[in-house]
Amino acid sequence: MSKQQKRYMLPEEEIPRYWYNIQADMANKPLPPLNPATKQPLKAEDLYPIFAKELSRQELDQTTTWVEIPEEVREMYKYYRSTPLVRAYALEKAIGTPAHIYFKNESVSPIGSHKLNSALAQAYYCKQEGITNITTETGAGQWGAALAYAAKVFGLEAAVYQVKISYEQKPYRRSIMQTFGAQVTASPSMSTRAGKDILTAHPNYQGSLGTAISEAVELAMQTPNCRYTLGSVLNHVALHQTIIGLEAEKQMELAGEYPDTIIACFGGGSNFGGLAFPFMRHKILEGKQIRFIAAEPASCPKLTRGKFEYDFGDEVGYTPLLPMYTLGHNFEPAHIHAGGLRYHGAGTIVSQLYKDGLMEAVDIQQLESFEAGCLFAQMEGIIPAPESCHAIAATIHEAKKCAETGEEKVILFNLSGHGLIDMASYDKYLAGDLTNYTLTDEEIQRNLDAVEAVL
Ligand SMILES: *Cc1c(COP(=O)(O)O)cnc(C)c1O
Repeated sequence: MSKQQKRYMLPEEEIPRYWYNIQADMANKPLPPLNPATKQPLKAEDLYPIFAKELSRQELDQTTTWVEIPEEVREMYKYYRSTPLVRAYALEKAIGTPAHIYFKNESVSPIGSHKLNSALAQAYYCKQEGITNITTETGAGQWGAALAYAAKVFGLEAAVYQVKISYEQKPYRRSIMQTFGAQVTASPSMSTRAGKDILTAHPNYQGSLGTAISEAVELAMQTPNCRYTLGSVLNHVALHQTIIGLEAEKQMELAGEYPDTIIACFGGGSNFGGLAFPFMRHKILEGKQIRFIAAEPASCPKLTRGKFEYDFGDEVGYTPLLPMYTLGHNFEPAHIHAGGLRYHGAGTIVSQLYKDGLMEAVDIQQLESFEAGCLFAQMEGIIPAPESCHAIAATIHEAKKCAETGEEKVILFNLSGHGLIDMASYDKYLAGDLTNYTLTDEEIQRNLDAVEAVL
């Protein structure tokens, strides 16, 4: 039998000791977040009521290139890191491509995705600052699960608002969070003003990430010693995720190759930034020719069809105004969509990089993503998270182009998580119950007009 898979691992002492802050190297820094009332740029202090102080500082830090990973966090990373870098020979063969396909396997973390990389850091800083309770929201449930475990590790109480439709449709994610000791509430709930207001206006509302964020932020602001945490979008989250790309840099060296194309799926940008930023450093500083491709769902196309403007991070408007590619904070994702990645906006760093042409974006249809995921599962033996399937579809697309041109490109993509708790989505796909969904221009424009009316 020919070689099917090759894994590259790092010894413990090679696990990075610093995260990489790409803001320090960017020629055009991200625009500052604004206070929605005064429209003035925020200072770190303005974020202290919501986030841990150190995380607030990291959020706005545009000068420190390397941020030391606290020893306690690095010790926890050793539970599952380094994660494997894998050469996917069987997938290459199935596609018939001369391209070399590598993936970074973040699905081996205890909760099955990259999200734990930031959850551990956020819980650690909260603990350091004497915070006792943390809140958050979760859509599909991966972030909630990561935060629930991280809170337990550092001795904090976690309260998670889970988008109602996923609370009902993904009961196992709720049980995972509860097993780790978190308190889980379906959002919208009657426990916050934001939740009550929305339920009064729309009693059957199935919830959205934007609403759940509003509820979690409200609880954090009204509870002593309580702070809010977020699993994507923000700069400090992408910072913590750079552990992925920093490891991958060393592992690609072990493999004796250097990537031409780097691909990741795109929700708010944290797994994309995590893998891409350390390599983008080479593009910014040394002019390396690398393509970076963010793969987003056609049903939530904020980069490919959204608009760059200041918008809120949540539904109600509790968060600062962020300069980002957005579909509008009122964006309500289509219920038919099974693949996650439904947040309305892109992180501010990625938004600036995209605006400056340092990276590309593609949108992927739902059926194509699952088709790619099934092929990957059959060839590599790992069932990918529906989110990760978007990266796989984009990878297959690039690899097929290489098959046509004969180019031996090196493609690296992020396997952000496994799909073993998402089998209900695979079931729907296999039963033929999923359809493609593309937003109309009118739908997109209506939401963006609503944003401008508010600002
Ligand atoms: C949350 C999640 C994503 C999307 O979030 P990003 O911040 O864009 O990375 C992608 N894949 C998996 C498995 C996730 O859990």
